[in-house]
Amino acid sequence: MPSRRDQARRLTRDMKLIVTVDVEEEGLFKGQYSADHNPTTNVPCLRLLDELFLEWKIRPTLLLTYQVTLQHHLHGLLLDLCHRWHGELGSHLHHWNTPPVTELPFPDPVPAELVPPDLLAAKLDCLFESFQPLGVQPQAFRMGRFSLGPKVFSLLQRSQVLVDSSVAPLRTQYGGPQHLDAPVDPYFPDPSRITFPGNSRILEVPITIVPVHARVGGIFEKIRTRWNGSQELVGWLSGNVFSLPVQPVWTGLKRLKIATALHNRRGGKVLTLFFHSSELQPGNSPLHPTQDHVQSFLRKLHFFFQWLHDFTTVESLTLSDLRKRYSDHP
Ligand SMILES: [Zn+2]
Repeated sequence: MPSRRDQARRLTRDMKLIVTVDVEEEGLFKGQYSADHNPTTNVPCLRLLDELFLEWKIRPTLLLTYQVTLQHHLHGLLLDLCHRWHGELGSHLHHWNTPPVTELPFPDPVPAELVPPDLLAAKLDCLFESFQPLGVQPQAFRMGRFSLGPKVFSLLQRSQVLVDSSVAPLRTQYGGPQHLDAPVDPYFPDPSRITFPGNSRILEVPITIVPVHARVGGIFEKIRTRWNGSQELVGWLSGNVFSLPVQPVWTGLKRLKIATALHNRRGGKVLTLFFHSSELQPGNSPLHPTQDHVQSFLRKLHFFFQWLHDFTTVESLTLSDLRKRYSDHP
């Protein structure tokens, strides 16, 4: 039960909580995804989340890669967990190892915006079709490495996707596109400038990264575009100094709370967390080399969810359910 002092620190607004898990093959952090050998032994580790998700009524969105949907022996588990958690199965494109795979004249990892549109469209089709044996038509989507720009977005606009979560505000990506100045809360992007609100059909739900000052992202984007060669420095400063991620793998419990309180105070309504299924298996992430690290991560999630419930009214939703809340938007 929160003390009176704690009561005074209550968050001022109700919050929607979106928990997304990229369910994917091993290889992340090793920089060596292969086109034909992509083990998925980490996926059953999703069971570790069962108690936690049931206790805090977390309704996650599991975003599956092609290499995972390909593994039919995992379908029963994924459907069962999704049912138990009242969750959603969405899609996650690793464009580097989703067929058709062809060599491109750029260093790996090739940013999606440099992939020819026809090839990118074929990869998306391949990913969506791979959900058929699961009996699912995925409406939620995330791009691998947050590599979402106007080219990918225009393809998504013509697909079944209704909600996307590929924008990482205040972060720069190798080869772009950059999301430095993206809004923190969900918005309908301008399809030609996806960090600006516009009139797209797709709701964008950025992973929650809070700027230390509301205007920081815009300032860094101006510096990046006007000062050639500044990108690396800008990316480092915005990612490491001038932002607070509400991302449990990237930061500690105290900072998660501070960032959430700041977002809430500025009128933020939605918290969007993400992590990878491979982070639940010791050794697949440099941050979680042992079972103890994985258990400590689960405890961190538990205490964060508990704190949220103590300090505000929080409702966990899937990405598609959040999209439905914007029913006045066509
Ligand atoms: Zn991924």
